[in-house]
Amino acid sequence: MDSTGQLFVLSGPSGVGKSSLRTGVRERFPELAYSISYTTRAPRQGESEGRDYHFVSLETFLTMKEAGAFVECAQVHGNYYGTSGAQLEKHLNDRRDLLLEIDVQGARQVKEHFPRACFIFVLPPDRETLKKRLSERGTEQGGDVEARLDNASRELGEASWYDYLIINDVLEEAVEALAAIILSTRCRRQAILPRVRNLIQPD
Ligand code: 5GP
Repeated sequence: MDSTGQLFVLSGPSGVGKSSLRTGVRERFPELAYSISYTTRAPRQGESEGRDYHFVSLETFLTMKEAGAFVECAQVHGNYYGTSGAQLEKHLNDRRDLLLEIDVQGARQVKEHFPRACFIFVLPPDRETLKKRLSERGTEQGGDVEARLDNASRELGEASWYDYLIINDVLEEAVEALAAIILSTRCRRQAILPRVRNLIQPD
């Protein structure tokens, strides 16, 4: 029975509100670590290096990939994204619970390495709402909105293998659902047993 931190993986189509959910839940659980991904995407207005992403060139990304720096990586909407294996291991070995916000291709790779991770998929209440949110977000060019909608259909098709599904209609309720998932996962036998072994099986 190991006693590393618990890994939480959050996926869902672009525009579904994953970042808002992540921000909301990290206010509730400030000790929950978050893995800053590497990406070849250009920073959007208001984003900063090391807080939202590590923004790197394609060349740097591919060199890191070749060197085995990523525990998972994927191409999404024409850009590369990856999770640093060293960052992930450090948090888990420090027994910190860690949240990853990654696409479905990356989540599948994580599942191969960490089958006991908790996989959570965020859904919109319906397609129209997703389209509206994506258009209103204003961070994408027109064509990109279409590409993200196409990709959303593919991503939604993967929802069925995730452990938990959250419908993000009212943000506060979705944050509440995510917090409940985190709390219940932390109360699972495998998470608690290493801490109470002596209590329930005295020498
Ligand atoms: P965005 O460009 O909108 O920030 O992110 C686009 C997509 O890439 C989102 O679905 C986001 O969850 C995903 N993503 C962000 N970081 C990573 C990562 O490290 N790995 C993978 N596989 N996907 C990521």
